Amino acid sequence: MSEQEACVQKDTRMLLQDTMQSSGDSGDPAAWLRETDIVSYDFPYAGQLLAESFREWRGLKVPPFAKLWDWCVLNYKGEWIEAADGTGAQSGLWRTEWEKGAAGSLDSREPVTFAAEVPADSSGVQLLVLPVFTRSKGEIFALLGCAMPAEQYQLGGRHTAEAMAMHYQTCFYRRFEHVFVSDLAGVHQHAERESSRRSLLFQIVQRMHDNIDVNAVLTEVIDSISAMYPGVRLELFMSQDHRSTHPQVKPLPLRWGKDDVCAKAFKDGRVTLHAGRDNNSVEIGLPLGGKQGIYGVFHMMLDKPSFPAVDLRFLSMIADTAGTAFENAKLYERSNQLIRELRMMSELTQRLNQSLRLGDIFQYAFEELLEMFGADYCCILHLNEEKGGLEAIACNFPPLRGEIIETGKGLGGQVYELGEPLILSEYSNTAGVSSRLMTATESQSVIATPLNVGGEVRGAIMLTHREPHYFSYDSFRLLQAMAGHIGLAVGNARLHAEVRYLANRDSLTGLYARHYLDEEIKERQTKDFCGTLVVVDIDQFKMVNDTYGHQKGDKILKQVSEIVKSSIRQGDIAARWGGEELAVYLPQLGIQQARFVAERIRKRVMGETEPRVTVSCGIAEWSWTDERVSVESLFYRADMALYEAKNNGRNQVVIDSKNSDVTLKNP
Ligand code: GH3
Ligand code: MG
Ligand code: MG
Repeated sequence: MSEQEACVQKDTRMLLQDTMQSSGDSGDPAAWLRETDIVSYDFPYAGQLLAESFREWRGLKVPPFAKLWDWCVLNYKGEWIEAADGTGAQSGLWRTEWEKGAAGSLDSREPVTFAAEVPADSSGVQLLVLPVFTRSKGEIFALLGCAMPAEQYQLGGRHTAEAMAMHYQTCFYRRFEHVFVSDLAGVHQHAERESSRRSLLFQIVQRMHDNIDVNAVLTEVIDSISAMYPGVRLELFMSQDHRSTHPQVKPLPLRWGKDDVCAKAFKDGRVTLHAGRDNNSVEIGLPLGGKQGIYGVFHMMLDKPSFPAVDLRFLSMIADTAGTAFENAKLYERSNQLIRELRMMSELTQRLNQSLRLGDIFQYAFEELLEMFGADYCCILHLNEEKGGLEAIACNFPPLRGEIIETGKGLGGQVYELGEPLILSEYSNTAGVSSRLMTATESQSVIATPLNVGGEVRGAIMLTHREPHYFSYDSFRLLQAMAGHIGLAVGNARLHAEVRYLANRDSLTGLYARHYLDEEIKERQTKDFCGTLVVVDIDQFKMVNDTYGHQKGDKILKQVSEIVKSSIRQGDIAARWGGEELAVYLPQLGIQQARFVAERIRKRVMGETEPRVTVSCGIAEWSWTDERVSVESLFYRADMALYEAKNNGRNQVVIDSKNSDVTLKNP
């Protein structure tokens, strides 16, 4: 007995028990079955059942004298179905006659008897047609033709034949009941399968929609399909940049064969089935799609010769649900990502706004980017016009820090020169690019973007990671957005520095303005131990103006300023104190050394100006030991010394009397 038959039998038993219980009839559980019958509507479809019953009936034991009889079966219209010979083996001879007889029997609803006309010596053969009636309404649903020797007919053969016809009816009904019950059980089984499928689908849908994590949704659907079809070889090919750690989730192959089920399923968005070459396996492509598109395709391989259509429908329902759940999870992930990006952006801008100093801004940007993107290395390149290249202004790879990189060289140099962002997933497999940072740090992934400041590319930002395929496309996009903010902050800082520069400078001489000098001295007086102020005044400048004109006077003022600037150390502050008076503050310098500086200035002015002018200098010093330290008193004392120099005949350096009474006269 096959598995399916066993199943039908079991179902039948259950069905019968159910029926018994519901009818409350404990005597004959199958009574209802005997009441079922075929009706005229069924007759056209009963041919096969008639033939099968006929064969079965002929295979049963017959009375010995009836062994030679030939039989045939005809349908409800008296049309020939088939014959089975007795040992006489002549039934085919009488087909036309039996059919004729059947027409008569159908009319009279009685058995019809007639003598055979063929073959020529057939006078000894008696032919009969016997109607077979339905058990409830008594309709003729079949007829049996019988041929027997005439003498047996005389001896009561007719009654035997009628009894055998009744037996045929019994055989037919036995078979009919079997088919009926099998059908019923089949329907029952089908309904049960459908209901369990539906409940399974419901559970899967619920579990999938419970998951708001993209990977969990995919794992759920893979597990569900694997559980439903044990032995299935299942993999999921995902398009887009969807990374998954699940071993059965793989990226879409770049190229498919033209008959590939997955290619078809992905392209048409429909379930696609191919029978295996050996006809012992099936291959199924199942698209994973949502409202906005198709995200991937499941590939199933089953060692089965066929796959029921109902299962295909079921699978496609699961795939549809998975697609929607995936899409929802993706949207959720996306909105979370956007929130995260906004938060990062606001953190970055907040941090960048903390300072207007360029150095701080690069340092903050560097620290924030490194952390936000989880990068191994970050390198910010900034154009250094003086040094003629890109300076690695912030970089956590020490050998590169502070280096000047030629524009157009390396990845950063290219990004700067082309003004285009860049993403690389596998550096070692990418031909035609070479980067010192990537090679030296053994990085494989990189995202880089130009740094735009006030509409002009002023540098580049690079983030790298040792792992290949580390940065997603979203990260790449985010870096560009962040670079925009960094560019703004850099621009602001530059503007601020420019304004500050202008505000603190004298426009004619390029020296610091007086207020700047005042503030600087004040500041230093709180920190340093000592400092010296030299006041430099051009002698008889009014006369110079009068002689050469104001424009020439300006030129001389600039010449003197240049001499002053180039006569002092870095860190000393030279300022235009007012009119044609300049002042130099020499931090941490004693008055005697300051005197040498003043002398150098005086001599150089005398020697280098054209037309020649001279200067007088007054010097004063402050020390932390002084009773009262202030900018005003320092200036006052220097001014007093200058006054003295003027009085003493100009072109000389005079030290404040408090410090010394040494006056250097014009030699
Ligand atoms: P002394 O040797 O006593 O310093 O004589 P002096 O003429 O330099 O001094 P005084 O203070 O009488 O005159 C200063 C002159 O400097 C007056 C003004 O014409 C000139 N001066 C001040 N500022 C400028 C300037 O920016 N450009 C020019 N060309 N001249 C200026
Ligand atoms: Mg003067
Ligand atoms: Mg003056």
